[in-house]
Amino acid sequence: MDEALGPPPAMAEKAEELTPMLSQYLELCERYDDALVLFQVGDFYETFCEAAEATARILEITLTQREDSTGTYPMAGIPIDNAESYIETLLEAGYRVAVADQVEDPDETSGLVDRAVTRVVTPGTLTETELLKEEDNNFVACLTDGYGLALLDVSTGDFYATELDRLEAVEDELQRFDPAEAVVGPDAPTDPFASNCMVTPYERSAFDIENAREKVAEYFGETMLASEAELRACGALLSYAEYARGGTTDGETEQLDYLNHLTRYDPREYMLLDAVALRSLEVFEPRHVHGLEGAALVETLDETASALGGRELRDWLRRPLLDEGHIENRLDAVEALVASVGDRERASELLADVYDLERLVARVSRGRADARDLRALESTLSVVPQLRECIADSTDDSDLLAEIHDELDDCPDVRDLIDRAIVESPPVEITEGGVIRDGYDEALDDLRQTEREGKAWIDDLEAQERERTGVDSLKVGHNSVHGYYIEVTNPNLDAVPDDYQRRQTLKNSERFYTPELKEREDEIIRAEGRADEREYDLFREVRTEVGKATERIQTTATAVARLDALCSLATVAARYDYCRPEVGAEGSEASDASRTSSDVSDGIDIEGGRHPVVERTEEAFVPNPTDLPRERPMAVITGPNMSGKSTYMRQVALLCVMAQMGSFVPARRAELPVIDRVFTRVGASDDIAGGRSTFMVEMTELATILEAADENSLVVLDEVGRGTSTTDGYAIAQAATEHLHDEVGAYTLFATHHHELTDVAAELPRARNYHFSAERRPDGVDFEHDLREGPAEASYGVEVANTAGVPADVVQRAEAILADEADGRTTLTADDATPTSEIPASTDGGEASAVSRSSSDASTSDGGELPADILAELQSVDLAETTPLEALNLLSRLKSRVE
Ligand code: ADP
Ligand code: MG
Repeated sequence: MDEALGPPPAMAEKAEELTPMLSQYLELCERYDDALVLFQVGDFYETFCEAAEATARILEITLTQREDSTGTYPMAGIPIDNAESYIETLLEAGYRVAVADQVEDPDETSGLVDRAVTRVVTPGTLTETELLKEEDNNFVACLTDGYGLALLDVSTGDFYATELDRLEAVEDELQRFDPAEAVVGPDAPTDPFASNCMVTPYERSAFDIENAREKVAEYFGETMLASEAELRACGALLSYAEYARGGTTDGETEQLDYLNHLTRYDPREYMLLDAVALRSLEVFEPRHVHGLEGAALVETLDETASALGGRELRDWLRRPLLDEGHIENRLDAVEALVASVGDRERASELLADVYDLERLVARVSRGRADARDLRALESTLSVVPQLRECIADSTDDSDLLAEIHDELDDCPDVRDLIDRAIVESPPVEITEGGVIRDGYDEALDDLRQTEREGKAWIDDLEAQERERTGVDSLKVGHNSVHGYYIEVTNPNLDAVPDDYQRRQTLKNSERFYTPELKEREDEIIRAEGRADEREYDLFREVRTEVGKATERIQTTATAVARLDALCSLATVAARYDYCRPEVGAEGSEASDASRTSSDVSDGIDIEGGRHPVVERTEEAFVPNPTDLPRERPMAVITGPNMSGKSTYMRQVALLCVMAQMGSFVPARRAELPVIDRVFTRVGASDDIAGGRSTFMVEMTELATILEAADENSLVVLDEVGRGTSTTDGYAIAQAATEHLHDEVGAYTLFATHHHELTDVAAELPRARNYHFSAERRPDGVDFEHDLREGPAEASYGVEVANTAGVPADVVQRAEAILADEADGRTTLTADDATPTSEIPASTDGGEASAVSRSSSDASTSDGGELPADILAELQSVDLAETTPLEALNLLSRLKSRVE
């Protein structure tokens, strides 16, 4: 337990004797014992004791002391005006922060000012814009045992819930949403959460099914049909969000009324992109390969103009669709927008002026919006009618655009109210006046009139008094301490009338006031004070009124977000010459169930495909075709290093992802099936930078693929089997290939440096070999990046070595060894290998056959007959637990025994 949290022992010891203020502090520390309590004292938030020591250190502020009859306590405070940036630093340091504000006016209470925690700031429940990244959601997740998962973005009201059956599926979902904070229930696992995610164990009772059901009903009615685990996750998360919003004075929490759309989803409704795939396809984050930083897919697709559009696009990318109808809907909309260039460009311009509606609305209904927020809301709603116009002509071509058109509601009543009530450029402060327009409220106008009249009277006073006294140098002035005064210089003091009263003596002059001046002044001050109060009340009324339109504004916000995302996809499609993909079975009447492997139309068929990210940086990107029909879904790809294998395979996967999110794709023509899940396994050699180079990791991931892939999956295997010695590696690669081919039937792209694998592929009826070649030039090697049918030349590496200047005798020796190998090589086909079903990736059979193959040029075994003891030893090896070094040792032991 962090010492800075909970009640400070030094105070707790003397709880009975503390001054009322410190005992209030102590009480709040007890109640919010998992958060740093920031305690308002005047213009500062103070912390005491251990908490003061921690904040002073973290925030680099001065540590002072507070004395009281019971002793001296360390104290550190931050100015309230700058609190947000300090709070951010505390969050970064791993703290939750409970903000305890004075909830009574100190001038109006004689005794102790009451304080209450008005919000608990945690990484997952932020709403202050300055602490949030614009284009990203900021989720707090809630996980129960039995894997109910709820995700909420408190700043936008986006709320998702689902139930998962396996821990791996939980991990995959968390990877998609990347929450900043996780609330976990009793018995829920905490290990799926990434290290940058704060884990908050929360009150057991909130997870209780009855409590949770009740809480969910408060928000969404009684009718929600969901499993217990899901209900418990939603209920607990809602109660946590209320807690974080802070209570009212009596400690009661209030409902968050802007959460009106809960998206319950089944992960099976979306293409599954697990953590490994997201990373290796660089969907959201570029990988750092060889220290170079590239771009991620999301950046190449993101031409959104608004923050909410940016978040929407990310959501689409996070959850590519499986439903052909929905995919077509988005593609229709993109096509319509590609066609109407002028309207699209106009829409993008308008969208650039859009403020973050979702977050504005959230702040309005949390009572945290200021006058500028309301103005921003009004100005955003004011572009909505023009946005509608931009798509009015496209509504016939696209159902989705028609829907968006209908949903774009500029809420004229809300606009009118804000426009009438709030001045055009209001100040930041909402308690100090200058917020409400003249003419909006009669009482306010009267107060202002009084104020103006008083000031006008004072303006005239100087001339009047000069005339009355005959003193031309007489001045009327104002200062903040003494108020209004009449100033007369010393030589003229004789002329001062009797009704002048002395206010202040200066070196060369005296300052006076008259009873009438004093009276006017008091009148002005009273009017000002009452006007400020009146304005504040009016402002809050307006804000509450606007808050009633929350649901309508949110609908508009969603429509704006979707339109922005679609415009972005259309802009990219037009600018980079993408084509509309045909997704799913030909003629979309065939459903998944009725799809059979004899559907010839079904399969990946791409002409002139390009990698969306690499083509932007590569001067002359070479487009390549992909032909993986349903009945022959496997390609084994060989070719030298740097020839383009990895790029090509990722390109195929990215085209599928893009098509299913509703985007056009970089290709001349593309027919794509609906892929339910993309699996990738990038060999250890390519992934060292990621710090995941162990053979164990590679095998774990391979195991997942072999177990979970089905015929609608796309499997990308890049140099699998590199993390171990060549023999095991090859054996595993071959066994995996055969399994995917015989048992799974997934669309599979397999790049390998195991050249022998091409012989295997040549014999498999549903696989085909491809290769990338390269030309030798006098000035070096020229990669053509051009995919061709058939296997690569095996000796290619030697040629490269030669070109690169490796001494001739070494090259010749290498060629000789290769020639030997080629002679001795017994081509291993599916027929003469041990039956596939007995060679899953990491069993001994694969190893045995590999050993027999690779040693076939040696003088030992005839036809692969192995001595029984060697077989037994091989059978006892657990490859998944074997390090490369152990494998080598084993091999050398076996070899010496055979010899
Ligand atoms: P491999 O996996 O075969 O070693 P990569 O896919 O990593 O090769 O590609 C090596 C480099 O070649 C990439 O960094 C990329 O810049 C370039 N490249 C790959 N494919 C193409 C292509 N089709 N057209 C142009 N350049 C390409
Ligand atoms: Mg590669």
